[in-house]
Amino acid sequence: MSALICAADVRYKSIRISPDVSDPHPIFKVRSFMHKATCRSLIYSVDASRMSERMMLIGIDDIHPERAIDGTDCGGDPDKGVLKYLDSLTEFGTITLFVTPNWRYLPLSLPSKGLMRLGFRLQNKGWPEDKWRLDMHPEWCSWLREKVKEGRFELGLHGLYHASNSWPPAAEFKALDENESLHRIEEAERIFSRARLPLSRVFRPPGWGIGEGLLKALLKRNYAISGSVGILSPLAEASICKEAGLTGAKAFYPERIRGVLNIPVNCSIRTSHEDRVREIVGMGGIAVLHGHAENDYHGERIGNGVITAYQNLHSLLAKAKVRTSRFDEVSG
Ligand SMILES: [Zn+2]
Repeated sequence: MSALICAADVRYKSIRISPDVSDPHPIFKVRSFMHKATCRSLIYSVDASRMSERMMLIGIDDIHPERAIDGTDCGGDPDKGVLKYLDSLTEFGTITLFVTPNWRYLPLSLPSKGLMRLGFRLQNKGWPEDKWRLDMHPEWCSWLREKVKEGRFELGLHGLYHASNSWPPAAEFKALDENESLHRIEEAERIFSRARLPLSRVFRPPGWGIGEGLLKALLKRNYAISGSVGILSPLAEASICKEAGLTGAKAFYPERIRGVLNIPVNCSIRTSHEDRVREIVGMGGIAVLHGHAENDYHGERIGNGVITAYQNLHSLLAKAKVRTSRFDEVSG
């Protein structure tokens, strides 16, 4: 299993869901047709309205107003740290921040998984409700709002709390039914609205925890999901994601799963290089880079954090010469 992904995110695999091939995304359908016609390099250009050139997406998880002084820099200090680094990279194009609007996850820092599980059962506290609720941090929201207006950042949804009452503790939606999933997504939307932050209809599942209830709720609220990980998937058109989330989903092409458009993660901001990005777009796919705000969170190893990945990401963006786009350009 990859050490490149957040420990909390990889440790807990979700249910395996087979792609619903009877309901392909229109872009995917067009791509298949064009592939048969051996027009590989024009696969996406046939949909001129949204896919006029080769593109890559960059999505950074776990963004919320917590600052280094509070424990971990998760983007809470706009003028320094994680957001400053990311802002400087937007000279290459838009970066998508997957924001948790009322973050509550707080890991128990214990030496083994068994102890963590026991500790979680005895004392599942987390951050106090509303401490990191977006609208409680108006200055932070105001800074972010301007950056979104300038086209530097896009905001996607990364759960409501990023915390679950059941194990695993970071996989908020894994065990939730449709009603509770819907309730949390709607509450998340209300918080974005109160904070006057524009939200794209794309969802990155906390802890890669995905159940049928979440997919039904996303379909109802018209969200795309970026819910599968294939950073180690070999460069072949038939490759699937095996590392986390919707295992079995195609690694390089968007497709509908239970009716919900999935945009697969297939590169790491820390370890992937420009040649992988070029290969993916050369196959008519979309290169989707994944990172986390933080490398460690209150003693828990997360990995793939922005600051440790900065040099690699800067070099990749400078050399790949592939346009960086927004998730909602893919999902429409
Ligand atoms: Zn996360």
